[in-house]
Amino acid sequence: MEHLQRKKESVLGFDVDLFNFETALQYTNQHLQENKGMQIVTINPEMISLGKNNDDFGRILNGAELVIPDGVGIKLALKIKGIEQENIPGIEFAKKLISLCELEGYTIGLLGAKEEVVQKAAKNLREEYKNLNITYVRNGYFDIQEENIIIQELKAIEPRVLFVALGAPKQELFISKIKEQMPSTIFIGVGGSFDVWSGMTKRAPEIWQKLGLEWLYRTLKEPSRFKRIFPTLPLFLVQVIIEAIHEKVG
Ligand code: UDP
Repeated sequence: MEHLQRKKESVLGFDVDLFNFETALQYTNQHLQENKGMQIVTINPEMISLGKNNDDFGRILNGAELVIPDGVGIKLALKIKGIEQENIPGIEFAKKLISLCELEGYTIGLLGAKEEVVQKAAKNLREEYKNLNITYVRNGYFDIQEENIIIQELKAIEPRVLFVALGAPKQELFISKIKEQMPSTIFIGVGGSFDVWSGMTKRAPEIWQKLGLEWLYRTLKEPSRFKRIFPTLPLFLVQVIIEAIHEKVG
């Protein structure tokens, strides 16, 4: 099979990979087969605006080995730049990665969410993927001392893929702290995915997912998200339009 190379596009200074779902998975599989580690970021407009205001987070985003566009916001931004890009929902990508790990016998770890949530998510995954080897399960509520213990445990156990569900930017900051110490582990931040896999939170109905409006559905269900999402998305798109005009003119 051909050896895939990254093809990146910058959105407001942040790299986004132009793989589709299938090739992004293949690119990840390449790393697995070559026993290489990597950090996968599933990027959205909120993370980009956070990265613009926080240099550390911004550097982490651009230091990731794979950045997949998660949600309609990034898809639209790329469209404004004249690029047709498939949306890759992070939660579905993570699920496919789990399925690949089951098939190829790679060990995985789950770190994040509340204790009962992560335990239930692990149980459900073990039922769904009978040959899956989950070697590490830990909730996402820890202080700095516990964090050091977690890092030692992870280095000893070395899961091939670690799913980190602490929400952004926490999960990316955690991954950046540990990735150099675990050079053959693949890390992916998966936000609220464990809540869904545990069965305790439902995803949006399919029609909302198909329209790329899962974020809107979640916001309507959980109005506290309003403050986070609503000023961000229109502002983000306006900035992208201004950037695209500058690129055309200049
Ligand atoms: N979480 C955690 N530790 C924390 C804060 C959050 O494990 O200190 C978990 C939380 O329980 C939830 C996930 O991180 O499972 C964040 O989900 P959210 O939907 O807010 O993330 P998003 O997908 O919006 O980034």
